[in-house]
Amino acid sequence: MDEFKLIERFFAPLGGARKDVTQGIGDDGAIVSSPSRELVLAVDTLVEGCHFPAHAPPRELGFRVAAVNLSDLAAMAATPCFATLALTLPSADELWLTEFSSGLGEGLARHNCALVGGDTTRGPLTISLQLIGALQGAPLLRSGACAGDHVLVSGTLGDARAALDLLSDGGQSTDHETYLLARYWRPTPRVELAHAVSQLAHAAIDISDGLLADLGHIAAASGVAIQIDQELLPISPALVEHCPRAQALAYAVTGGDDYELALCVAPAQLSAVLHAARQCGDALTVIGQVVGGQGVTCRDADGLPVKNPDVSGYRHFR
Ligand code: ADP
Ligand code: MG
Repeated sequence: MDEFKLIERFFAPLGGARKDVTQGIGDDGAIVSSPSRELVLAVDTLVEGCHFPAHAPPRELGFRVAAVNLSDLAAMAATPCFATLALTLPSADELWLTEFSSGLGEGLARHNCALVGGDTTRGPLTISLQLIGALQGAPLLRSGACAGDHVLVSGTLGDARAALDLLSDGGQSTDHETYLLARYWRPTPRVELAHAVSQLAHAAIDISDGLLADLGHIAAASGVAIQIDQELLPISPALVEHCPRAQALAYAVTGGDDYELALCVAPAQLSAVLHAARQCGDALTVIGQVVGGQGVTCRDADGLPVKNPDVSGYRHFR
């Protein structure tokens, strides 16, 4: 199968069917009508062996590629519109492509995002997805947090980190293990939630590298400090089953890959934000406060600083 057949068969069309795509896959470039609003552009690259394990299940991988990118748009409060895919493949494996494209299409279609173009090359498996989204009002930035704000997080934390244990052990026998693995492969981009709170919250980030590391970006961009209370962190019943509480808390504090949303919200807006989350069907938990100063600290049940958490998160270059 040559490159053109491959593209036609697996990627044209994929994702949401949108009227504002004038020319999708098939010409030298895509043509879309620009929504008469500000646009948000984000790209994420996933490299086999680095961002996901070798021989990953292709359908799950396709869904995850969509979800982690959609999560970046969510963190800006943008509505996803268009995607382009740069795909580097070791070979044109039809079964793999069928599964991968169906997972990717499912992830994109959930948010009515159309795949409008891309590039296909041969080489070590590398998947790069670019998304274009539209703002409906003001964006959610990392730089807006103010001393006195509450810090909130959506969903639960640490599940995806626990799934990495299972992936390396090859385990998936119990219900809670299945749940944790699904949290890794099928994260939920909080697109609707972000949109619902975008005019209420001061700042947001999606948690991809680890709670402390990512809150560190908000603290630095906003010129504030953030204090987290470890005991307040939302932990799923599956993670409680999976490991001792101390380990679960450590995963929640420093594990990445959950793609939950962290928000900074003024006390006066807290009840409106919690109400908006309920309307969206998303859990939102207060986990700490924004204070004056710099950096992120995490306190234990006695109010003492948690010793030596690895706050740096995942980094490619140190
Ligand atoms: P060109 O040689 O002009 O760069 P390509 O052969 O790269 O064209 O692509 C042909 C068409 O297929 C273009 O519309 C391009 O955007 C699209 N395309 C290529 N690879 C992919 C892919 N992996 N996913 C989606 N669209 C793709
Ligand atoms: Mg090309």
